[in-house]
Amino acid sequence: RRRELTARVQGPGRTADGHPVALLVNLGAPHELPGAAAADAEGVGLFRTEFLFLDRAEAPGLAEQAAAYRRVFTAFAGRRVVVRTLDAGADKPLLFATAADEENPALGVRGLRTAARDPQLLETQLAAIAEAAEDGAAQVWVMAPMVSVPSEAAAFAARVRAHGLPLAGAMIEVPAAALRADRLAEVCDFFSIGTNDLAQYTFAADRTLGSLAGLLDPWQPALLTLVASAARSAAEHGRPVGVCGEAASDPVLALVLVGLGVTSLSAAPASLPEVRAALAAHTLAECRELAELALLADDAADARGKVRSRIAGGG
Ligand code: PEP
Ligand code: MG
Repeated sequence: RRRELTARVQGPGRTADGHPVALLVNLGAPHELPGAAAADAEGVGLFRTEFLFLDRAEAPGLAEQAAAYRRVFTAFAGRRVVVRTLDAGADKPLLFATAADEENPALGVRGLRTAARDPQLLETQLAAIAEAAEDGAAQVWVMAPMVSVPSEAAAFAARVRAHGLPLAGAMIEVPAAALRADRLAEVCDFFSIGTNDLAQYTFAADRTLGSLAGLLDPWQPALLTLVASAARSAAEHGRPVGVCGEAASDPVLALVLVGLGVTSLSAAPASLPEVRAALAAHTLAECRELAELALLADDAADARGKVRSRIAGGG
């Protein structure tokens, strides 16, 4: 029955009562581009740009970067492309941008912090994105990884706008950012919640350790509480708020995220049909009830179990 439903529902994401939820793809490597562009999606919710920088002695120049970005913007002409600026460090070490002497790289100079140490890296990348976006093919949004405090987001947004790019966002991947999302929403245009890192930092659990998968479970009520905080602040300021971490690929959890106030979901192309079908089968009010159940649950297993049984019971 699920297969029938996924085959039938197509086009923009909508709840059963017509509330729009943009369904977007994550894109991280050139070979994924044809499949991503062919997917039934409203655009790219997370364009990971690290592939251009990995395994190199120095950063690629402006022209090389602009050509790579232009290929993506052209493939997604008429659609949204959310570009994430370089997320160097921790699980994505770079030869030229990651210090070798940090004892705790996940807590070190990574993500946007790299740009504070080496501003030229960000400047060149923003110039390349702006150049590639010039012909207006795609709607280009630009966001920073690993934002912790509002002043970082404000400085980033100022640089993005200085390059003539209209939309600057912050990823919510650090608990401090989720807790102060109200202030963040004053200085940037949108949020994208990275549940992989947000779980890692909320539970002090290394995201690369399989043995800690229980703590990193995206159904953890503490994680969902932070998502709720970010989504509430975004709504109060009329800002879009997406989820682009692994959580967005679970169709049942997607209902909970929408119930918490998330306005877009970004995942691998293969995950989208089931997410779209789940949304089409539930109203926004039902999603909100499911979100309430999950927030009040004792733990991740309880949240998953209660939500699933409510859905099975016709809720
Ligand atoms: C995340 O942290 O959830 C995220 C989407 O970014 P990445 O997995 O690339 O760190
Ligand atoms: Mg991340």
